[in-house]
Amino acid sequence: MRATTAVLSTIAVLLASGTAVAQDGVTRYVRYAYEGRDLYGVLEGETIHVLDGDLFASPRRTGTTVQLSDVRLLPPTQPSKVIAVGLNYQSHLGTRQASEYPGLFAKYPTSIIAHGDDIVMPADANNLHYEGELVIVIGKEAHNVSVADAADYIFGVTAGNDVSERDWQAADLQWLRAKASDTFGPLGPVIATGLNYNDLLVQTRLNGEVRQSESSKDLIFNLEEIVSYVSRYVTLMPGDVIFTGTPGSTQAMKPGDVVEIEVEGVGVLRNTVVAAR
Ligand code: MG
Repeated sequence: MRATTAVLSTIAVLLASGTAVAQDGVTRYVRYAYEGRDLYGVLEGETIHVLDGDLFASPRRTGTTVQLSDVRLLPPTQPSKVIAVGLNYQSHLGTRQASEYPGLFAKYPTSIIAHGDDIVMPADANNLHYEGELVIVIGKEAHNVSVADAADYIFGVTAGNDVSERDWQAADLQWLRAKASDTFGPLGPVIATGLNYNDLLVQTRLNGEVRQSESSKDLIFNLEEIVSYVSRYVTLMPGDVIFTGTPGSTQAMKPGDVVEIEVEGVGVLRNTVVAAR
């Protein structure tokens, strides 16, 4: 009885403080353009509760709302860095042996696009693949954090498409063109907090057909291990993102294709492939 009272009073305090807690304990943040401004909000159903202040510094609800259909979604964060882990599911490795440590590479902040934006296929690209992934969003500056402490630095998760040009990936000195070209990093539609991110279903659909489907519980290196490892070498800042790796196999996309990455609890990230003009 006493425990129940304590829980109820904790919930009351959270609600009174303006902290955005959805009924299921999951909060979904969006970043969007509305009437010439870029804003953050909490998405509940089709309604956005407008926030005031920086997403990573305890923003408060303003009390005003706007409908999702009236705004244009933006990438849910503006990262200073976009880091990615490769070969992090055995299903993607196939018969290859897993690495002893996470294999890292970088994408550029300019590769990030929002839900609904177009993936632009460069004129000389021939082998452009999707990679559906769970993506970590960092909440506070992280330098040399332990695996045990890493969860404190994870703000939430989103869905990402680590778009990759396989021919360039094989041919080039580094993966700069292959992974970091403009529009090669669709992200969104929301950042979700309060999810059990080490067991979320990640699905990719190409033109409505399921092509990838696996839980993040199968990650070789889980989210805390990734954050701890990266932070040994690179100081992570609020809003930075880390793609965690793609499961299964991938295939080439062509202009006109619609690719959807769905992460359980996050929603569907949908983008269309177009040819460069
Ligand atoms: Mg990847």
